Amino acid sequence: MYNASHDAKPSQNMSAIDPAYSAELKQIKLIVERELMPLEPLLLTQQWEALNHALADARKKVKHHNWWSTHYPTAMESYSMYLTALLAEVIGQSPLGHYVFGWQAPDIGNIELLHDHASDPIKTQWLNPLKQGDIRSCFAMTEPDNAGSNPTLLSTTAVSDGDDWLINGHKWFTTSADGAAFTIVMAVTHPEADKHQRASMILVPMDNPGLKFKRNIAVMGHQGKGYFSHAELSFENCRVPKSNTIGQAGHGFKLAQQRLGPGRIHHCMRWIGIAQRCFDIMCRHVKNRAVTPTQTLADQALIQSKVADCFAAIKAARTLVLNTAQTVDKAGFDAARFEISMIKFHTAQMLQKVMDTTLQCLGALGMTDDSIVAYFYREERAARIYDGPDEVHMLSLGKQILKTY
Ligand SMILES: Cc1cc2nc3c(=O)[nH]c(=O)nc-3n(C[C@H](O)[C@H](O)[C@H](O)COP(=O)(O)OP(=O)(O)OC[C@H]3O[C@@H](n4cnc5c(N)ncnc54)[C@H](O)[C@@H]3O)c2cc1C
Repeated sequence: MYNASHDAKPSQNMSAIDPAYSAELKQIKLIVERELMPLEPLLLTQQWEALNHALADARKKVKHHNWWSTHYPTAMESYSMYLTALLAEVIGQSPLGHYVFGWQAPDIGNIELLHDHASDPIKTQWLNPLKQGDIRSCFAMTEPDNAGSNPTLLSTTAVSDGDDWLINGHKWFTTSADGAAFTIVMAVTHPEADKHQRASMILVPMDNPGLKFKRNIAVMGHQGKGYFSHAELSFENCRVPKSNTIGQAGHGFKLAQQRLGPGRIHHCMRWIGIAQRCFDIMCRHVKNRAVTPTQTLADQALIQSKVADCFAAIKAARTLVLNTAQTVDKAGFDAARFEISMIKFHTAQMLQKVMDTTLQCLGALGMTDDSIVAYFYREERAARIYDGPDEVHMLSLGKQILKTY
């Protein structure tokens, strides 16, 4: 069985020698290594319910230390993207970290969205318990029948009916819908308007009778449950008051762009945390795996070059992401738009390479759930697809670069 202790020793990785780390981040890293990594075998071998209790206890401890997302001094009000990026990296080393520290997608994106654009009654009813982690939420934009890479192709509609919207449509890959209290759905409210002003974001409680939960979709053979799941939903004459509109009707795309900006930096730094975790596992494994009576894998030049290659790839991606976070802090998200596109595909590709190299170096062990690597490999391949596939970000950056020639 998977034994977390083999990769939960104090880390010798790059983050541990980075002087930018504060004492607080080091303490947080210890909590991740000593308290969350030992829970991972439950995640790998059982369902969400088996973890519920332990995760609730871990959340209590995080809140007690004032490390819960919305208590964290840099969060929300005095937002430093650089510091939250460093935090996202540390807690991202375990698949449980973001959830336990209150930084989990899609809730954190919804918190930011509701914080900036929701009415006071919505803030009281939905945002406050979401910020405390008392409820969960999800975000329903992608549709099976339309290319998600071009979100202006949405078919879901919300038709005006007095003071209500009547929503009809079919969504999928609504992450964490299973057990969520509400979703924010993207629906076309102004079909006649310019393509970027057609859609609105509307909050729909999950227990609305017009919202049908179809299934949790099996992803790479794993159906998932609760927070760790992706659902298919259908809206069938789903009636909600127009006061559930987030921000102005017709401004859905604008809000979606705003919602994705910080999310992409959080994701990138979480991926760097995962890449570093894999890198540590790889280095420890090759140092111990004897391939002759006198030599280990680490003595082989081919392995040494893989280690060097991954080290440089992680370091380069990390530098790019932290530079982007600094641009955001100095000049805002608009100024960092193309940098964010660059780090989104670059970091996701780096992650895939490091995960794959680690799996290869572990041999058959890498294919099993006796190590966390296979879990990362199957769950995080999607990094190159969600929040804009690689190609979409490359197109946008490539066009911008060519304009300067
Ligand atoms: C694990 C996971 C979680 C997700 N969570 C959510 C969620 O919570 N809420 C939500 O609304 N959605 C979610 N999504 C959906 C995700 O945002 C979409 O999958 C993504 O936007 C791509 O859309 P698509 O799958 O329809 O691919 P398509 O748009 O059909 O594209 C297919 C592929 O074509 C390529 N491609 C696309 N455009 C171009 C182009 N112009 N030129 C060249 N190649 C191109 C890309 O490689 C792309 O992967 C999730 C997806 C995954 C896998």
